Amino acid sequence: MNIKQVCPNIDSNELALISECISQNWLTEGPKTKLLAETIKEFTGAKYSVMAPNGTLGLYLSLLACEFPPGSEVIIPSFTFYATAMSVLFAGLKPVIVDVDPHTYELDPICLKSAINNYTVAVIPVHIYGHCANMKEIIEVCTCRSIVVIEDAAQAMGVYYSGKHAGTIGDIGVISFFADKTITTGEGAVLLTNNDKIYNRLLYLRNQGRINSGSFIHEEFGMNFRITDMQAAVGLSQMQKLESIISKKLEKYEKYRSLLEGVGDICLGKKETESSFVPFRFFFTSNHKDKLSNLLKSEGVETRSYFYPMHLQPKLISYSSFPCPVAESLSSYGLCLPIHNDLNNDDIEKICRIIINYFNNL
Ligand SMILES: *Cc1c(COP(=O)(O)O)cnc(C)c1O
Repeated sequence: MNIKQVCPNIDSNELALISECISQNWLTEGPKTKLLAETIKEFTGAKYSVMAPNGTLGLYLSLLACEFPPGSEVIIPSFTFYATAMSVLFAGLKPVIVDVDPHTYELDPICLKSAINNYTVAVIPVHIYGHCANMKEIIEVCTCRSIVVIEDAAQAMGVYYSGKHAGTIGDIGVISFFADKTITTGEGAVLLTNNDKIYNRLLYLRNQGRINSGSFIHEEFGMNFRITDMQAAVGLSQMQKLESIISKKLEKYEKYRSLLEGVGDICLGKKETESSFVPFRFFFTSNHKDKLSNLLKSEGVETRSYFYPMHLQPKLISYSSFPCPVAESLSSYGLCLPIHNDLNNDDIEKICRIIINYFNNL
């Protein structure tokens, strides 16, 4: 492929910071991890931040920290990455899968409301493709029923809702730093919370049931959810570039939008009015999705389809009690185009020309 779907924005700056780990002879979680957590805490305005090995384990850890009774129900949207559902199952809880809004692709508050029962303990809104779910309504529905809100903000670094950073609106939030996310540490994630009790449990859970390493008396249950300082080194460099990564992504999104909006039957996704936007991909639906995807592939452009719905996943079908026609339709007609740093204006024009020519020749 000439034009890849994903390409992390890394250079000699990341290498220089990794080299420091080597020259200072400190590879495991240490000063750089502490500094990265602190930097992200300050950037997001969260009261507490805790690093995790990846977004999937971050969601799992969040659920463990809440100490829900086994078998309790956690409501998730059907239109998400598999990790959202698996973290619930692996935590011994039951995922209840509901539909999303057809315009924003975000968890539909009306579907959420209709799925709540006496066993519901939490909801995981997923901030999809770089904008936030309808947090105002979700929080309203959950607060009066004492339902915990865990934000899957994996794709939402740098995204704000009513002035609050994604992941700091609910009880806990998880931002992923996988290689295709807004910033990356290779594998990695951060957990954000304003809740003292949750933060305290996270500290024990992530570090073998103790707060400080080096002690062999373990007061609590715990596992190893730490990261390495080499990952944190990459993260610190990425944090320095965050603003420029975001503005470049926005420029690319605008370039695509100016060329493709109104072309053929292309329908762009929309964001909630209260949400800001850090494009994760350039994403749209079209009845011609498969033909466009094949055509672009033949021209060396790698595309991505949308998520396959959770309620239709082979291992999750038995958990689906609510119809999710929107998630099904998005998965049939959605297509993502690359928006990464290596993509230049000529690439975007080439991609758009292929699409425009396709529709002109129909
Ligand atoms: C990437 C992603 C995750 C998982 O994060 P990892 O760091 O890859 O484990 C979870 N949810 C969503 C919506 C994601 O996009």
